[in-house]
Amino acid sequence: MSRWLSELAPALAARQQEKLYRQRLTLSTAQGPLVHLKGHEYLNFSSNDYLGLANHPSVISAFQASVEQYGVGAGASHLVVGHQQPHEQLELALAEFTGRERALLFSSGYMANLGVLKALLAKDDVIIQDKLNHASLIDGGLASGAQLLRYRHNDLDHLDQLLNKSVATNKNARKILAVDGVFSMDGDIAPLDALADICDRYDVALMVDDAHGFGVVGEQGAGCSEHFDLDQKRLPIVMGTLGKAFGVSGAFVAGSHEMIETLIQYSRTYIYTTALPPACAAAALQSLDIIKAQPERRQHLQDLITYFRKEINDLDFNVLPSSTAIQPLVIGDSEKTLALSQALLKAGLLVTAIRPPTVPVGTARLRITLTAAHSFAQIDRLIDVLRQHVNLV
Ligand SMILES: *Cc1c(COP(=O)(O)O)cnc(C)c1O
Repeated sequence: MSRWLSELAPALAARQQEKLYRQRLTLSTAQGPLVHLKGHEYLNFSSNDYLGLANHPSVISAFQASVEQYGVGAGASHLVVGHQQPHEQLELALAEFTGRERALLFSSGYMANLGVLKALLAKDDVIIQDKLNHASLIDGGLASGAQLLRYRHNDLDHLDQLLNKSVATNKNARKILAVDGVFSMDGDIAPLDALADICDRYDVALMVDDAHGFGVVGEQGAGCSEHFDLDQKRLPIVMGTLGKAFGVSGAFVAGSHEMIETLIQYSRTYIYTTALPPACAAAALQSLDIIKAQPERRQHLQDLITYFRKEINDLDFNVLPSSTAIQPLVIGDSEKTLALSQALLKAGLLVTAIRPPTVPVGTARLRITLTAAHSFAQIDRLIDVLRQHVNLV
């Protein structure tokens, strides 16, 4: 065995020692507010299934009907022979829903971010990112080879300083400012309107990763671009995912006809991978119909969020200022966070501990997520159990 392979074991032991070791839970039920683990039932506050669509009867039916017609696998990449009618229909529907000229499906959000940034930027270009951006945006920036500028979270003055310096030295560079619409571990919404203004001033293209906003944020659920009323000119690159509020899998990028055609020509994570199963596209189309037709799902989720924040306010937790379904309690220390998560598990609640490097060192947290499938009684239970364990923080 190679020497380095035999050194993996001590490295893993060290990670365990630092309380940073990751382990998976194996669910024996569908995603939802109640899940089963090793034969026990748990109240689940960890999924991104914000609208409760992952196990929705009509989404399941749409998936099944598509399997009857199209089979299971797409069988090829989109550019070869894997692009089928459900993919095409979903792209058209997503373009319309986001108010963009075109949309392009990717197999995952991670691949979409990598594919966009690597196709649109090269070595002499500049990618500007919020420090708390999702790993897939950071990795996409690195893969492009462009100069990476990171500004402190939501700090527009810092951003302005960085751009001021950079513009002088990179006059002809292509520049993209990429940002999470809803920050995945904090739950706050990026100030996209102010960012669009700054982008205008410095000739930068704004890109939003709306993984946690698409389907839930905005009057119609069309995400952060709708919330801030930003059209394709002001916000030219929109990435959304279909595995969170849509309850399915996959992702898309929406924008101008020319931008999408450029991605089709050059985006390696689009070109060199098998197309999403067509049934996923059919299921996502059904989710989109539900999102359009049932605003009461978003309203119920919003009511739960308001209720949770009112109740948690009376307990001694460090709650972040978030108006979205992501409601983190920052504990700080990884060991304490893990202990609290395990105590909640014993009490029948599933709330995952999020630790570095997913979040900055010293900001380990319980990432509570609420969904439209939760009831007020389930929030009461969460608050009760948190009250009983506040001594652990
Ligand atoms: C989940 C997530 C992604 C990745 O999307 P997948 O479809 O799960 O690969 C990208 N960006 C953000 C902000 C996310 O939360």
